[in-house]
Amino acid sequence: MKTHLLAVLLATAASFGATLEHRGVWLHPEQYKTPQLAEEWIGKIAAAHLNAIYPLVWHRGGTAWFKSKLSPMAADVPDGFDPLGNLVKLAHARGIAVHAWFVNGSYGGPVTSGVFTQHPDWQLQGGRSGEAWYDLGKPAVRDFQRDLMLECLKNYDVDGLHFDYIRYSGQVICYCDHCQQEFEQKHGFRPMKRSEEQFPALLSIGSNPLGKPTTAKVLATFDHGVPAITVNRLDAGEAVLVNWQAASRSCLALDIFVKETLKRFGTTAKNTYQLNTTQTAAKYRVTEQEKARVWLRELGLPMKLIDESALAKVPKGATVVLVGQYLITEDTATWLESFVRAGGHCLFVDGPVFAIKHAPLQRVTGLRGQAAFFHGWKVISPAPDQDVLKPGPPVDAVKERQRMEKWVEYRTWTVTELVRAVYKGAKKLKPRAWVNAAVFYKKESADKVCQDWYGWLREGCMDYVLPMAYTEKNEDLAKAFAEWRAADPQMERIIPGLSIYSRAGGKTSTRDLDLVRSQLDMCRDNAAHGNLFFSLAYLNDELIKFLSTGPYAGPAKPWYPKRR
Ligand SMILES: [Zn+2]
Repeated sequence: MKTHLLAVLLATAASFGATLEHRGVWLHPEQYKTPQLAEEWIGKIAAAHLNAIYPLVWHRGGTAWFKSKLSPMAADVPDGFDPLGNLVKLAHARGIAVHAWFVNGSYGGPVTSGVFTQHPDWQLQGGRSGEAWYDLGKPAVRDFQRDLMLECLKNYDVDGLHFDYIRYSGQVICYCDHCQQEFEQKHGFRPMKRSEEQFPALLSIGSNPLGKPTTAKVLATFDHGVPAITVNRLDAGEAVLVNWQAASRSCLALDIFVKETLKRFGTTAKNTYQLNTTQTAAKYRVTEQEKARVWLRELGLPMKLIDESALAKVPKGATVVLVGQYLITEDTATWLESFVRAGGHCLFVDGPVFAIKHAPLQRVTGLRGQAAFFHGWKVISPAPDQDVLKPGPPVDAVKERQRMEKWVEYRTWTVTELVRAVYKGAKKLKPRAWVNAAVFYKKESADKVCQDWYGWLREGCMDYVLPMAYTEKNEDLAKAFAEWRAADPQMERIIPGLSIYSRAGGKTSTRDLDLVRSQLDMCRDNAAHGNLFFSLAYLNDELIKFLSTGPYAGPAKPWYPKRR
């Protein structure tokens, strides 16, 4: 608590009387798109003693919640109303700062509507389907987003511009002619664009794999010899294992294999079930399940979601898909064995690594144990003694990794170029405006999506970042602080983003107040100069009372870093 008191004293002294602390919150158009909504929510924001708001002003297929010559106003805004203009007036009247929030990378809408209908070439090519992203590698896309952000800054009395999704969805993305040519100019060779329909494939993946095959036939291996894809026949049925988190890291060759496998299984939308076991659901987030559903739906294979209580309804000969089901009870394992023996099919993706100790699961998968956890770039090659996967040209793993490193460097540069352009333009237009960004809170995760925010802070093309540390685990938040403070000991340019919601059973609700309190204490104990909450929709009366009588009892003006 000493640090906390000292921080408050220092901030107070620095501002000749007024406490300086960034007390921010993100908000969506649903909280300000009509005059009534804005009035209602700004009252709550003021009552909670928050002093900085970050309203979403541009997303969802390129629609705006401000008056723009470049983007249409969102359809759900009353005719003639200017949501951002109204909000800025209301907020500034109460001493609350406004930072206009733009979603840069993610399209956020169906590609059949919005800006991609006019500019189809602005969409990123390659990568996973199901989600549309902007190709920030194209100068036209960066220029458009820069002009749009600067238009907003020019026409509105906002205190700053806020980037979000200022990244890609991954690394292996966009092989359009422009990106290939530009890469070649910079690096002197073409980015790899091999025949991607066949293995070997190079993928950046994480896996807690199964190992020790007994009856399973190994179809493909990772380059350190661990099975990557296996198939096991058991009486009249069959089980196929894809031995990594393929729901989030697939490739064309795997997509083709999975499609062919499920076709061979005779799967239809009516006889394919995604099993989410109770134990796994309780322990792990459902993200992988959702990703798997999207992935297989994109491959033309929709599934019904079931839990263990409904296993009796699964017809004979059907297909059960298990994605990231690390924990499976012995009863369910026993059911799976009799189901497969009777002619059923199983597709395991990222297999049952903790449940493989159950003998029935060993018989179903034809594997009897684990192999060591790994993550990073791996080459997945067809095994020599199988004839299911037709091998493509060989891959030189070392060379491919080097190419990939350069490719990631290039993709990262394209994101940083947009940051630089907006920063430069904003400072020219309004030197006192702040440029800031919501970023992945772990450096490793940020690097994976080409978001070099440590580099932006070093270079000076970003005033401050707001890492989204929405974790409920305080030990993870403590690790994050250690990482941030190693780069920025005084937290001069890092303002933590904290969540005020929790997710349980597929539903979200306002987070437990003790957890909110403990995370705010951690911010103050770690010399943070404030924080930003995600998001306003979860600011209920209880939380308002807690903040305004507790951690935010005294008034404060928004803290900002030193001017560069
Ligand atoms: Zn491209």
